[in-house]
Amino acid sequence: MTNVTLHDKQFELYISGADIRKRIGALGEKINVDYTGKKPLLIAVLNGSFMFAADLMRELTVQAEISFVKVASYHGSVSSGAVSELIGLTEHIEGRDIIVVEDIVDTGTTLVKVYDMLTERHPASVRVATLLLKPDAYNKSIPVDYAAMEIPNDFIVGYGLDYDGLGRNLRDIYKIKS
Ligand code: 5GP
Ligand code: MG
Repeated sequence: MTNVTLHDKQFELYISGADIRKRIGALGEKINVDYTGKKPLLIAVLNGSFMFAADLMRELTVQAEISFVKVASYHGSVSSGAVSELIGLTEHIEGRDIIVVEDIVDTGTTLVKVYDMLTERHPASVRVATLLLKPDAYNKSIPVDYAAMEIPNDFIVGYGLDYDGLGRNLRDIYKIKS
C-alpha cells in the first residue's frame, strides 16, 4: 500500500516496515551493549508505543523487564495548571535502571512529564528510547538517548501511531499528504 485514507485525510508511504525493523535492531544492539550486566526495566508509554515496545523487547538479549503506563492529565481543584499522573506503574523503581519507551518525541512535553514523575521515585538511572524523534520540534533538555529514527515535522501514522484512533495497525509508517 502506498496510500491510505484515515477519516478525512490522506497519507503516503514514508518508512517501510522492513526499514523500521532494521533501525530497531540497531537500537536494540546499542542497548544490549550499554546494559550488559544490568537488568533494565522498560517503561512503555501507551498507547502509541505498544508495537515499538514489543519489537524492541524482542531485540534485547540482556535480562529486561517491561511495564506499561499511561499519562493522565487533569485540572486540579485549586491550581489552574494541569496535573499529570502516571497510571499503571505498580513496580518499585527505586534503584532500577529505567528505559522510557516512547512512540514519538515531538515538543517533548509528554516526555518531560513522564521523566519527572519517574525521577522523583529515585531510580538508579533513566534513559529514553523512542521510535521517532522530531529534532526540529524538540525543545527540552532531557537527553533522548536512543532514537530509532529522526524525522522532520510532518504528521505521521502507522506502526502504533494513530490519527484520531485509526492507523495504529499499519505495518509501515505513513506521512500526511500536503
Ligand atoms: P510531545 O509532547 O512530544 O509534543 O508530543 C507527544 C505526543 O504527541 C506523542 O506521544 C503523540 O501521541 C503525539 N504526536 C506528536 N507527533 C505526532 C505525529 O507525527 N503523529 C502522531 N500520530 N502523533 C504525534
Ligand atoms: Mg505517546
